Amino acid sequence: MLKITPYLGIIVLIVSIGGVFYPKLGYFLLLVFASLMIIAPFRGRWFCGNLCPRGSFADFWIAPISRKAKIPPTFRSMWIRTPIFVALMGFMVFRIIQTQGVVDKVGMVFVTMCILTTSVSILFGVAFAPRAWCSFCPMGTLQRAIGGSKHPLVVDRQKCIKCGKCQKVCPMQLPVKEIQEMPDCIKCGRCVEACPKGALSF
Ligand code: SF4
Ligand code: SF4
Ligand code: SF4
Repeated sequence: MLKITPYLGIIVLIVSIGGVFYPKLGYFLLLVFASLMIIAPFRGRWFCGNLCPRGSFADFWIAPISRKAKIPPTFRSMWIRTPIFVALMGFMVFRIIQTQGVVDKVGMVFVTMCILTTSVSILFGVAFAPRAWCSFCPMGTLQRAIGGSKHPLVVDRQKCIKCGKCQKVCPMQLPVKEIQEMPDCIKCGRCVEACPKGALSF
């Protein structure tokens, strides 16, 4: 996690609320999309754990009001994630085509998508866990598909004492010490910081 990460959540509110009055704010989503597309081939979902405004919003704004329950494994299933990806992306493209390229109307499509997905992420974040939405977010799924195996977390089994502290702090609720390959790891580094034996590294 970067020093700036906890503060990025404010951007979600600026785009979702400010965008209603000034639709060009919606174009910020293009910057988000470009950034994650550049980073994903080298670092997988690193953007999710370090630069995504909604990820920050989930960790630092939704967390205090979340039930912090277990994220249902079904949310991570590609049988759920792929249709969500196709439906949301298809809906967005359809709406953009309808705008006939009018700048403010296109901006409003992005703002609407931001409001829609933020609302769902708050609902799921409160009902399940702060990062429940990130388990099936289309942009997370895309990054996983592009670079899920890149920049992996490595567990030194000689040093690991199986205390489980790494799994307790993982915002994605991943089985940190159990398996080697975790394409949904968002590279936030919280488990690395929490490990008392220095058994984790990238
Ligand atoms: S999964 Fe989506 S909302 Fe969550 S951090 Fe990644 S891009 Fe942002
Ligand atoms: S925190 Fe470190 S020592 Fe504890 S289970 Fe995780 S990897 Fe092993
Ligand atoms: S496994 Fe570690 S780095 Fe990956 S998401 Fe969980 S806490 Fe963050």
